[in-house]
Amino acid sequence: MPENLDPFEIALEQLNKAAKVMKLDKQALSLLSAPKAILEVSIPVRMDNGETKVFKGFRVRYNNARGPAKGGIRFHPEETLSTVKALSAWMTWKTAITNLPLGGGKGGIICDTKSMSVGELERLSRGYIRAVADFVGPEIDIPAPDVYTTPQIMAWMMDEYETIVRRSAPGVITGKPLENWGSLGRGDATARGGMYVLREAAKTVNLDLGKAKVAIQGFGNAGQFALKLVTEMYKAKVVAVSDTKGGIYLESGIDYNKLLEHKKKTGTVQNFPGAKNISNEDLLELGVDILIPAAIENQLRGDNAGKVKAKVILELANGPTTPDADEIFHKNKVLVLPDFLSNAGGVTVSYFEWVQNQEGYYWTEEEVHQKLDQKMTEATHAVLEAAKTYNVDPRTAAYTVSVKRVADAMKYRGWY
Ligand code: GLU
Repeated sequence: MPENLDPFEIALEQLNKAAKVMKLDKQALSLLSAPKAILEVSIPVRMDNGETKVFKGFRVRYNNARGPAKGGIRFHPEETLSTVKALSAWMTWKTAITNLPLGGGKGGIICDTKSMSVGELERLSRGYIRAVADFVGPEIDIPAPDVYTTPQIMAWMMDEYETIVRRSAPGVITGKPLENWGSLGRGDATARGGMYVLREAAKTVNLDLGKAKVAIQGFGNAGQFALKLVTEMYKAKVVAVSDTKGGIYLESGIDYNKLLEHKKKTGTVQNFPGAKNISNEDLLELGVDILIPAAIENQLRGDNAGKVKAKVILELANGPTTPDADEIFHKNKVLVLPDFLSNAGGVTVSYFEWVQNQEGYYWTEEEVHQKLDQKMTEATHAVLEAAKTYNVDPRTAAYTVSVKRVADAMKYRGWY
């Protein structure tokens, strides 16, 4: 039977597996098996050629028992409601794993940013906020960047929201430019948070990060900063990197600054001087110690998981591994550090940004790093501890930690 790759089905399968292990109350499970609210919108945008094009967008509020919903907005040509639902469920577990007083939500627009002008992107971003303005807010649901959305887009969205509500409301959205009261340390937060998870997990498997070889799939915000930080912080050697067009392999190690310059000039990481071009599939199967999927979902599946040689997988992407692949990794003793733990650094610093916005008082970068380290370290230990207690893989263990926190909050609220 071909593997089921529907993202929301996968999210439910993961949840059900954990629910069984932790003997979760049936009513709690049914409350956690569907989003609280879904908004689907049509956004008319005047394109540069004068014609109006209608884009489809979504915002899903999965759960808000622990606080306002929180999660990014993704601009993607293959966006679907199922993907946004899955991502909103994963956000719920993500905010819970670092114990933030927030719930989970997610947004998406079906669009191809690569074929749009800056003006078209701005009008689409503002149009989205006009369409969802009643559904979001600093105490309701707080969006942020995700795949193909940027600090600039966050600034347009904040501006549009403030124009609608006719007051200052920087806490409506996070991941803003510093000039619009974004937080120091938000830019590299997803990758940096992952580095702290990696540091703690490496201790438990006796992996010397200074001697480790690394492959990174994806060259967006998470992938780029993973390359920079894993070399800077741990002196690990990144031998392979990829983007949507393909990858490169360089045995002597890839230099972050040189590759960034090359990508800026040519639009791809491929054809980097001295490196061999490889495919995205080749990259996943390289003989490295650490594999960092930092692109999109369903990259590691039943059909290729058995060929992965890495001993540790740090999931900076959301949903890169399917349940079939998880089984194979568990059997092959590959340590999979699950997405909603490994990439929780982004939303954790988003939370810090929101706190600073609500208070109107701003922190130093050192303060952000130190608080992020503390949150990620605590979360990693909670997950590794639960993995021992229940004798399960780290993803299921992470679910038991987050689901318990959300279920307990629902219980005291009287939802069940
Ligand atoms: N989009 C990021 C994620 O998937 C960040 C979300 C946020 O900062 O709210 O975790």
